[in-house]
Amino acid sequence: MQLINHWIDGAFVSTTPHRTGPVFNPATGAQTAEVAMASADDVALAVGAARRAYDSWRDAPLTRRQNIMFAFRELVAKSRPALAEALTAEHGKTIDDALGEVQRGLEVIEFACNIAHLLKGDFSEQVSTGVDTYSVRQPLGVVAGITPFNFPAMVPMWMYPIAIACGNTFVLKPSEKDPTVSQMVAELFAEAGLPDGVFNVVHGDKESVDALLSHPDVAAISFVGSTPIARYVHETGIRNGKRVQALGGAKNHMIVLPDADMDLAADAAVSAGFGSAGERCMAISVVVSVGDAADTLLPKIQERIAKLKIAPGNEEGAEMGPLVTREHLEKVASYVTAGESEGGTLLVDGRDLTVEGSADGFFIGPSLFDNVTTDMSIYTDEIFGPVLSVVRVSRYEDAIALINDNQYGNGTAIFTNDGGAARKFQREIQVGMIGINLPIPVPLAFYSFGGWKDSIFGSHAIYGPEGVHFYTRPKVMISRWPDPIHRGVDLGFPQHE
Ligand code: NAD
Repeated sequence: MQLINHWIDGAFVSTTPHRTGPVFNPATGAQTAEVAMASADDVALAVGAARRAYDSWRDAPLTRRQNIMFAFRELVAKSRPALAEALTAEHGKTIDDALGEVQRGLEVIEFACNIAHLLKGDFSEQVSTGVDTYSVRQPLGVVAGITPFNFPAMVPMWMYPIAIACGNTFVLKPSEKDPTVSQMVAELFAEAGLPDGVFNVVHGDKESVDALLSHPDVAAISFVGSTPIARYVHETGIRNGKRVQALGGAKNHMIVLPDADMDLAADAAVSAGFGSAGERCMAISVVVSVGDAADTLLPKIQERIAKLKIAPGNEEGAEMGPLVTREHLEKVASYVTAGESEGGTLLVDGRDLTVEGSADGFFIGPSLFDNVTTDMSIYTDEIFGPVLSVVRVSRYEDAIALINDNQYGNGTAIFTNDGGAARKFQREIQVGMIGINLPIPVPLAFYSFGGWKDSIFGSHAIYGPEGVHFYTRPKVMISRWPDPIHRGVDLGFPQHE
């Protein structure tokens, strides 16, 4: 069985790990590899390598850092098909979806290629007689990224290109469920000329995360994953004196007003509800139908579901692949059972799906519920699978209140042809990312990504300008140079004149 080991100081570790975990191909259900699970000692080796590399990397000229990022960009672009294939083999998503994921990650690498411009400071001349003030942003040191299974290429790319371009060194702890793309990326960085120790990968679970959270040489932690773990990582990291951004889970609602283009809304609900088998933090899991919108919308959604091709992600024409693990499959199926017993109207049942030739794969079909209420577990919980709930409300104000009362605030969307209604939505809704006639509002890399409420902990959104701020700290200089005026001792607070 292949062993996926850590990448530390520019090479794969060759020692036998103290513990391993299984990696599966979700389309076949077969185990394909063992992944090393890092101990605190393994984490200390990676952090040590990153700490040693930091002093020279932070001093590397901006143009050199930028040129390495350009070379890395070219290599990732060339390797997109290979990365997508590896990703599909461990995550299960379709090849098209995986290619899209790598593309969205590439956009952040491209943003980081422009780091010389992004790190420009400010300069104010003559703020007082003979005095100038200027500011710069400097890197933090060793920073760590802890990432979820659902975007094994893109989510780490939200972090390390910007962190490294800013002059930090990086330790990535990717999801233990789909670790291979991180190995590939480490080799591409080495090929691009990144010095050893600047980018390191440790695999593992809670043990390795806890070691990163308590290591005194880790200055900052970026986390993306479920809300309970995001809250834990944020609280623990802050307690240990680290800067932390921790993005959590979601329950994304899509309001459909009666005046909406119903074909557009049905396409969007099916694409955003069942794309990547619902395993996206920006997936739509609740459609909020205002007035009689659902009466027209639901038959259109059902028509579209019936035509979806559910198959192994690398099969020609596949639109939806399997879930990531058997445990997750069982959890999602149990929510469908609970939704039925709690009184939801199950219009499409994904539980009895069989995919020819993949009897042991982790497949479940799309499920669709009508008449869902806010006390049902299919509404309150993040299912993270292909289960779409329709909640009916009579007034637009009730739809807005429903979303604002929800614990999560990652993304949301409205479908309408009424500009005034859309404007009210964007102003009043308490969610971080808003789609208007567009279901998955993930901003491009020159904006930043982040939800509100329990979908994020910490004060920085991720990537884009907020990413540059997160991975640097400001320093301000006030200089009198040369100083012809000798004023003598003055114990008063400095005032400018
Ligand atoms: P997860 O929280 O189980 O795992 C995330 C990371 O935390 C992994 O690296 C994992 O090894 C580690 N981890 C797991 N349990 C831990 C523990 N007890 N202590 C310390 N570390 C632990 O999440 P997941 O199942 O891999 O990913 C799906 C979740 O991620 C969903 O909730 C989804 O909404 C969320 N997500 C959020 C965003 C966003 O931008 N807000 C993006 C992608 C995914």
